[in-house]
Parts: sequence; C-alpha cells; structure tokens
Amino acid sequence: MESGQYLVALLIFSFISTAYPHSVIQIRRENHNSVAYNRIYDGRRVRRDDDMYCESWKFSVETNDAGYWSQIPSRCEGYVKEYMTGDRYRSDLEVIADDSLAFAKTVEVAGNGKDAWVFDIDETLLSNLPYYAAHGFGSETFDENSFNDWVDLAEAPVLPASLRLYGELKQLGFKIFLLTGRTESQRNVTGKNLLYGGYSNWERLILRGSSDTGKPAIVYKSEKRKELEDEGYVIHGSSGDQWSDLLGFAEARRSFKLPNPMYYIA
Ligand SMILES: [Mg+2]
Repeated sequence: MESGQYLVALLIFSFISTAYPHSVIQIRRENHNSVAYNRIYDGRRVRRDDDMYCESWKFSVETNDAGYWSQIPSRCEGYVKEYMTGDRYRSDLEVIADDSLAFAKTVEVAGNGKDAWVFDIDETLLSNLPYYAAHGFGSETFDENSFNDWVDLAEAPVLPASLRLYGELKQLGFKIFLLTGRTESQRNVTGKNLLYGGYSNWERLILRGSSDTGKPAIVYKSEKRKELEDEGYVIHGSSGDQWSDLLGFAEARRSFKLPNPMYYIA
C-alpha cells in the first residue's frame, strides 16, 4: 500500500470509530462478559450472579414458563436449600393459605355435602424435605426405590399452613378430597402419615390404581376430578405444588399453586 492510500484508510477507520463508539464498545463487552453480564437494560448492566439467576429460575419454574425440567441447575443447589429450609418457604405457604381461605370464604356452601376442595399430598399437605435434604434438594436424579422407602416410614412432617387451611375448610363445610400420585400399595402408610400429621376426616383418599399406571399425572388427576364432578361434586378449590395437580380438565374454580423448586411432575 502506498503511503497516500494508507493515510486515506487510516482516516476512514478513525471516522468510523468516532461516529459509532457505543457499537464497538458494546460488542467487546458482550464478548468478554457474556457469563456475568448477559442482558443490558436501559444501558445498565445486570449482573446475574447465582442468587439472582436462581431467583429468576425459580420464578420461571413456579409460573410454569420453564415447562418440563428434570433437575435443578447445579449452581442453584445452595439457593434451593436455603429457600426450602429457611423462613421464606414457610412464609410463602402462609400467604397462599391466606389467599386460599379468603377465596373459600366467598363460596356459598350449598349445605348438600357436594362442595369439594381437592388437595394433593406430597409437598402440599406433607413435606418430604427430610428426604430431599439427604438427596441434594432435587439436584440428584430421582430414585423411586429410595423415595418409596422414605414414604413407607410414614414420617413426612406436616406443612403447618396447609394444616391450618385444611381445618378451616372443613369448618366452612367443604368436603375434602385427597388426590395423590402415590399408589394404592401406599394407602395404609399414607393414611397413617396424614393422621400422624394432624389431618383427619377427609371424604376420600384417591390413589393411583392399576388402571392408572403409566398415565401422566395431569391426565390421571383430571380423570379423577371428572369422576367427582360426575358424582355431583362442585370442585371449588384445588391445592397442589405441581401444575399437573391443577391443570387439564375438570379444573377447580380456583387453583392454588404451592411452591416447589425441587422437582417437576408432568
Ligand atoms: Mg405434590
């Protein structure tokens, strides 16, 4: 390149650099900091450290925006542990119980014994936190055998907010149906665990029978709710920690989603 051409090229490059400084800087920043800073809002960099990432991840799984997921992100094990064992989880459950009760009090109970409320059991009435605490809070691959051994102990602790809601709903005149993905072979230990936790006088405990084997939870639970409707029950409310407890067909008039960042059941 002759010296005249070189000078012209240098001038053009200098002009472009001066005219579009932000484009050049932004590209370099994205390239070098794509892990720590991966979004720019109003020109402000948002640092997504583990706590912020995991809080956003939990929001996405609770709203079901995330859809199916099999294990919590490894970077969130500490976050999930802190959430599940700290005051925040209990506080969330109390608020949900309050909101459920506020709705229940607006229902005009007919007095014909057909006003129903459906509860899931695991992570809704009873907590399997002792089991999951020993298995990485959902960061390990689910092992059905060891989980069933835990269920057989019938020692799952009660979730106090749910026990309060359960009692208040009975006082209001609702019939309580317990609809669980547990199997018929677990009926006795499940009943024993519920009574041990303080639950009593449910109308019916519905478990997976042989004809329900292999059905996705959302199908199995919808079919069972439909059977209740066909018997004349009006399902005013439904409480569960999984969207598959609540969605599908024959849905309750109001569904109440409890938090569960440890596992997802489709
Ligand atoms: Mg559950």
